[in-house]
Amino acid sequence: MNVILLGLPGAGKGTQASRIIEQYQIPHISTGDMFRAAIAAGTELGKKAKSYMDAGELVPDEVTNGIVKERLQEADTAQGFLLDGYPRTINQAEALKENLKSLGKAIDKVIYIEVASEVLLQRLSGRYICANCGETYHKIFNPTKEEGVCDRCGSTQFYQREDDKPETVKNRIRVNKETTDQLVNFYKDEGVLIAVNGDQSPEAVFTDIKNAL
Ligand code: ADP
Ligand code: ADP
Ligand code: ZN
Repeated sequence: MNVILLGLPGAGKGTQASRIIEQYQIPHISTGDMFRAAIAAGTELGKKAKSYMDAGELVPDEVTNGIVKERLQEADTAQGFLLDGYPRTINQAEALKENLKSLGKAIDKVIYIEVASEVLLQRLSGRYICANCGETYHKIFNPTKEEGVCDRCGSTQFYQREDDKPETVKNRIRVNKETTDQLVNFYKDEGVLIAVNGDQSPEAVFTDIKNAL
């Protein structure tokens, strides 16, 4: 099953992704995670991506399309994959379609997690992430069951993302809003779009996604 998760920053893509990949046993391909890993490792890719990410701007399409193309050629994607945070522009959607076509594949479903912009700001400013396994939490909306201990792996180390500062968050939402609408229409036309109400509990959102898939 080849699936895309679509939604504005903070819509809950990462939160749902970890549930989906466990349920369907497919790899999670997050361009944001790939860029952050490249920055942490100090690679050439990381150097290219960093200034854009710090400003909340999109990394140029040719860079992003290139890393996803390579990733989709790896063996673990044979039974399917979950794309999270890609595509983010129509150019990327078209490049993805071409790349998949050349591999004899296509996208089966696009899950669009819909959340109002006002809610997104609150969500991103309270986001914190497990430093060991990457599970995402929220100070108020989605805390760990036991304070300071990751539900998933038991780690007590957490961090906040550098680009979750209020100014950067506003810019990310703005930059993504128009292109997200365009992508929704693109995949509607392709006949694979499913919209899910993201303004419910994470469990309720996941139930809707499972029903859709
Ligand atoms: P969120 O959805 O929470 O904003 P991501 O982790 O998906 O965050 O992305 C963080 C940053 O990484 C983006 O602001 C952008 O700079 C870069 N990025 C991630 N995915 C893409 C993409 N598909 N195209 C261009 N830039 C991207
Ligand atoms: P994205 O990957 O789309 O940027 P995340 O999954 O990181 O979004 O979620 C953003 C923030 O909102 C996190 O702090 C997360 O814990 C919280 N969150 C995710 N889903 C929900 C939900 N359904 N209700 C309330 N808060 C949520
Ligand atoms: Zn963890």
